[in-house]
Amino acid sequence: MRYALIIWGCVVLVFFTGKAFGAISPTVQSRLNTTATLIAGKPVTVNCHYTKADWDAHVHWVGLDPAPGQYVNAYTYIGTGPVELSPEVCLSLQKGQNLSPTDIGQVVDTMAHEPNHAFGLRDERQTEACAKRYEALVIHVLYGVKYHTAKMRLYVAYALAFSKNYVAASYQGGTCPR
Ligand SMILES: [Zn+2]
Repeated sequence: MRYALIIWGCVVLVFFTGKAFGAISPTVQSRLNTTATLIAGKPVTVNCHYTKADWDAHVHWVGLDPAPGQYVNAYTYIGTGPVELSPEVCLSLQKGQNLSPTDIGQVVDTMAHEPNHAFGLRDERQTEACAKRYEALVIHVLYGVKYHTAKMRLYVAYALAFSKNYVAASYQGGTCPR
C-alpha cells in the first residue's frame, strides 16, 4: 500500500456534523509544514480537509476506507508526503489552544506520527513508536510551548494518553528504527 494512516479505535470522540468551517490561519499552516518537514527530514506539505464529504471521498479514493467503528485521522504518502489531515484534526487546529486534553493529544500524536511516513516508515507500530520521540517538537513548533516546562510535560502527557486510549491496538508496542 502506498499510503499509511492513523486510525482511531472504537470510541468516536467528536461527532463531526459535516458542516464546513473556516480554514486554518496562514500561521498555523506554516507551523504545520515546518513541523512535518523537521520530522521527515525533507520538505513536506500538510493539507487540511474541511468537510466530512471531502474527507470521506479522499479516504475512499486512496483505498483507506476504515472498518466499522474506526475513523481515519490522517494519512500520508509514504516516503514523500504530503500529510493529509481529517476535519476533526483541522477543526482543533483552527480552534488553537482552547481545546480539551483529548483534542490536544489527538493533534500532537497525529502530527508526531504522520511525518514519519513521509520520512519513509511504513510499519504502523514503528511509526507510532517514533511519534513519541517527536511529540515535544510538535508541541513546541505548533503551540509555541517551551521545552522542559510544566506545560510541555502536560501536553506530552495528553499525547501519550491519546495514543494509549484511542489509537488502534495494531499500532501499539513497536520500536522506533530511526
Ligand atoms: Zn500511520
